[in-house]
Amino acid sequence: MTNPLTLHPPSKLLDNLCTCIEKDIHPLSAAAVAGGSKLFGAAILLKSDLSVVYADTNQERGSPLWHGETWTLKQFFEIPADQRPDVKECLFLTTHEPCSLCLSAILWSGFDNFVYMYTYEETHYVFECHGDLDIFNDVFNIRQGEVAGQASLDGSAPQVRPQYKLRSKRLVALSFAELLAAIEDKEEQARYVEKVEEVKKSYGRLAEAYRRNMNME
Ligand SMILES: [Zn+2]
Repeated sequence: MTNPLTLHPPSKLLDNLCTCIEKDIHPLSAAAVAGGSKLFGAAILLKSDLSVVYADTNQERGSPLWHGETWTLKQFFEIPADQRPDVKECLFLTTHEPCSLCLSAILWSGFDNFVYMYTYEETHYVFECHGDLDIFNDVFNIRQGEVAGQASLDGSAPQVRPQYKLRSKRLVALSFAELLAAIEDKEEQARYVEKVEEVKKSYGRLAEAYRRNMNME
C-alpha cells in the first residue's frame, strides 16, 4: 500500500485534489443532480503526477448501486485495458468518505488507497444521508461513538473506534483534514483550510439543489 503523503507534499495533494473536485467532478455532479441523482463524486488520478485519469459522479437515478465511487470504477474498467493505467499506479479520490459498498468496491478493484473530503459524520449530519453510518452500525456491529477497549499508549482518553481500519497492509485512507494537518507551516496551513472550506461549501450547495428537485417530484 502507498500513503499518498509519501509521494507528494500535502499542499500539492490538496491543490490537485481540490482542482479535480472543482473542475472535473463538480460539473458532472451538478448535471446528475439536475437529473435526479444524488451528489457524491469520485476520480482516479495518477500517483506520479496527480493528473486525472477519470472522474465521474453518482448515478443512482439509474441504479441504487451506482454511487459516485462504484460508477466511476465501472466506467474506468470500461476503458480498454491497454489504454488505462494499472490501479496500483493510481490514487482514488472521493468527495465523501466511502460507504461500506464503495469501500469494498475500491479494494476489490485493487486500489491501495483513497482520499476523501467529507467525513461520514458530515454525510450523516450535514447532508442528511444516513445510509453510510446506519449500515455500519446496524449490519457490521460497530456502534457509532463506541470506544475501543484500551486507552491509548500515552494515557489519553480512548479513541473512538473508526468504522474500518484506516491503515492496514491493504489500504491507506486519508481525509482532507489529515492532509491539512500535515502542512507544517501554519500560515500556509490556514490558507489551505480556507481553500478546502470553499470547495466544500461550493460542492455542498449541490445538496440543496438535490433536495429542491426531490421536493418538486
Ligand atoms: Zn457508496
